[in-house]
Amino acid sequence: MGERAAKEVAPLAAVADRERPRLVTHDPRGERICRVEYHPAYREMERIAYGSGMIAMKYTTHDFSHASTVTGFALGYLFAMAEAGLYCPLCMTDGVARVLTRHGTHEQVMHVVPHLTSSDPATLWTGGMFLTERAGGSDVGANETIATKQSDGTWRLNGHKWFCSNVDAQAVLVTARVDGGGEGTRGLRTFLVLTRDNPGFSIERLKEKLGVRSMATGEVTLRDAPAEEVGGFGAMTDMLNLSRLYNAVAACGVIGRAVYESRHYIERRQVFGRPVIEWPLAQETFFDLEAEHIAALLLTFETIEALQRADAGDASCARLLRLLTPIAKGVTGKLAVPCVSEAMELVGGNGYIEESPLPRLLRDAQVLPIWEGTTNILVLDALRVMHKDGTHEMLFARIRKHFPRETDALAYTFAMLDEGDARGWIDRLARLFQLTLLVEAEHGEYADRLVSRPLGLVPGARVWT
Ligand SMILES: Cc1cc2nc3c(=O)[nH]c(=O)nc-3n(C[C@H](O)[C@H](O)[C@H](O)COP(=O)(O)OP(=O)(O)OC[C@H]3O[C@@H](n4cnc5c(N)ncnc54)[C@H](O)[C@@H]3O)c2cc1C
Repeated sequence: MGERAAKEVAPLAAVADRERPRLVTHDPRGERICRVEYHPAYREMERIAYGSGMIAMKYTTHDFSHASTVTGFALGYLFAMAEAGLYCPLCMTDGVARVLTRHGTHEQVMHVVPHLTSSDPATLWTGGMFLTERAGGSDVGANETIATKQSDGTWRLNGHKWFCSNVDAQAVLVTARVDGGGEGTRGLRTFLVLTRDNPGFSIERLKEKLGVRSMATGEVTLRDAPAEEVGGFGAMTDMLNLSRLYNAVAACGVIGRAVYESRHYIERRQVFGRPVIEWPLAQETFFDLEAEHIAALLLTFETIEALQRADAGDASCARLLRLLTPIAKGVTGKLAVPCVSEAMELVGGNGYIEESPLPRLLRDAQVLPIWEGTTNILVLDALRVMHKDGTHEMLFARIRKHFPRETDALAYTFAMLDEGDARGWIDRLARLFQLTLLVEAEHGEYADRLVSRPLGLVPGARVWT
């Protein structure tokens, strides 16, 4: 995958970013249709990505305990170095397959999941996850889409979805409020909408986005759209948590690509008679970036391993996963933007010009701290988990071996932590955990380098002394 990403996907990604998807709203006879047209470069990237089996391998046994979870994400990391846009549909497809496998009916597992887990474009269906409405994304409990049960027991959905990535997916999970189901997220349920030949499903328009332009994000109207019930809101949170992990993997990919692009450049570029990399300040800057990359990777893959173990039935890993997921997403998503920016600055003027992949990388990176929950929303999620389940004690136990004094300080301040201070506190917890992972992986030199650097969840702050 590394070789294919570098040689094939990277040039295709540049084309697919330039030649964006287009919504076709009418057929030649003027009949209303909604079809998204993609450049062949995007289709070729799909063939490479789905064809690699990075999703299919997880479902070959219908048993999530398989090491294929880590392998699938490792392939995704390499792929996302070349193309972050399409990594979102891959995530959605895996997410719908996972939710249906765990919560769906026998019929859905037998007839929908095989399409979602196919590596063959002829039989492949892709997935989507439509929660966000005009009323809000973070506050998903404000959803207004209504699900109504028909006399024959089937469901119909009515409403508007405001941000729908991979908008022309064939199998989409949609949140909707059930008549009389109550307020907030408690009144929401998760439905499967099969969009092919669905008379109630229409795409209104595609969004003009800053980045991840190869992939189509649109607005959708559901008008008496036939849907199948999958489960409560909890089914959707399963997908949401998986997508947060995908986000962390994408962030690692974007950071990794920026690191390698800058390295390649500064090893060759001569300034004042020497390659840039030989000047001490440039070298320090570069190794700071590389340290962030390795630390982000270790945190992300530690979380993925927790997912793999949790899926295999390990209850303590399942608890740990609930805390590590918002932390890994929050930290890596937030870091992606300054890391790409720093790499661009290392390259200098040529890094700012569109012939370089770095401008696209910077545009793509900026979505990573926003979608799948903004940083503040993830901090709140982590806080909730810690207060409810005391999960931070599991991290403390691991960190304390290497950083006893700092762990005691964190434990002391947790008791009096209020919401307004939570970002700095999570920043310290996450950084200490990353340092622990670096030490355990015998990357002490990177740990030394990062020990005095905050993660940047608190912009401009120096939380370490
Ligand atoms: C390119 C793109 C694609 C997307 N694709 C999808 C998709 O496929 N499916 C989907 O469902 N959604 C999708 N989204 C939506 C995305 O998940 C939301 O934009 C995101 O969750 C934030 O929601 P919002 O935009 O409504 O902002 P809001 O929820 O209105 O948030 C505005 C601000 O308020 C802050 N905030 C909110 N609550 C609190 C609080 N309690 N305390 C402190 N601060 C708070 C937020 O952090 C943010 O800074 C996509 C978004 C983008 C940009």
